[in-house]
Amino acid sequence: MRKNIVAGNWKMNKTLQEGLALATELNEVLAGATPNCDVVIGTPFIHLASVAATVDTTKINVAAQNCADKESGAYTGEISASMVKSTGANYVILGHSERRAYYGETAATLKVKTELALKNDLTPIFCIGEVLEERESNIHFNVVKSQIEESLFDFSAEDFGKIVLAYEPVWAIGTGKTASAEQAQEMHAFIRQTLTAKYGEAVAQNTSILYGGSCNAGNAKELFSNTDVDGGLIGGASLKVADFKAIIDAF
Ligand code: PEP
Repeated sequence: MRKNIVAGNWKMNKTLQEGLALATELNEVLAGATPNCDVVIGTPFIHLASVAATVDTTKINVAAQNCADKESGAYTGEISASMVKSTGANYVILGHSERRAYYGETAATLKVKTELALKNDLTPIFCIGEVLEERESNIHFNVVKSQIEESLFDFSAEDFGKIVLAYEPVWAIGTGKTASAEQAQEMHAFIRQTLTAKYGEAVAQNTSILYGGSCNAGNAKELFSNTDVDGGLIGGASLKVADFKAIIDAF
């Protein structure tokens, strides 16, 4: 059966020392706890190796927030999936709306990144979601379906089964404006139906679909109580251990 996952996305926050302090604090609060979900922290690249060496990786998984669309070579400034894997990280967030919007990531690039992540034994957390105008024009279901189809539907059922999806309505990210539990459930159920039509019931039922967008300690329980919401991708609230722990405890 699919996993429940609470994944933090630190974005471009925290120096190495601050990041290590945050990871250490999270490690301490989880030391005596048995979370009812998998816990992931998505750190900046430079933190990965140190954070992975600091936390109890049987309890806290480490994720990169991106990886290159090339295997290796003369691509100055890029970080490959194999480099990410070599740090001890085992997840990678791909297709975040900020990367699509500010760094021009396309469906085709994201398909290659996902292939390379899988090849290097990293679990992709693949982000999809509509912008406000698309929701207001009532094309949000089509937008999300196309994002999944264009980047992920050439994968075999076996490979697709290794991917985690994160539905993140762009209008809810960092805005304090959360999708209602009904809106989240409606879209997650639609995504699962889309997966069922392509890959069949077993793959669809086994795929974890996370919700992201101003998820916090106050609303996590209601969001996660929906049948098709299997956890959260958490931005702002993952930077405070008490808040992030409260979200983990929502399961
Ligand atoms: C995110 O960036 O993935 C996110 C969900 O951010 P926030 O929780 O801050 O809205």
